[in-house]
Amino acid sequence: MVPMHELGIASSILESVQKEAVRHPGAHISKVGVKIGELAGVDRDALQFGFEVLVKDTELEPLALELELIPRVQRCSKCAYEFRMTDFDPRCPLCGDLATQCISGEELDIAYMEIDDS
Ligand SMILES: [Zn+2]
Repeated sequence: MVPMHELGIASSILESVQKEAVRHPGAHISKVGVKIGELAGVDRDALQFGFEVLVKDTELEPLALELELIPRVQRCSKCAYEFRMTDFDPRCPLCGDLATQCISGEELDIAYMEIDDS
């Protein structure tokens, strides 16, 4: 069983691949790279598995999915220092300020597609 959440994400990735495939008649999209933020709440194994299930026996096969994990990064609003947040401690390691903002880690975007037009 693939969790519904991951299955929905896998199917929306496939929708984008299909749209792109229409723009490149005669070519085959062989790989799609997706950026997943640490905070996006996605189980990468489940997503990978759900993706394989959906691609199997379709005209999109073979199609690989490459997931890139984007770590959570905070930026200090006082000194503009950017740091990787760990242990749920948002404090700026440079100046100790607590007013830091999350600037990455929530993404769920298609980064690239590899098109094989031979
Ligand atoms: Zn700071």
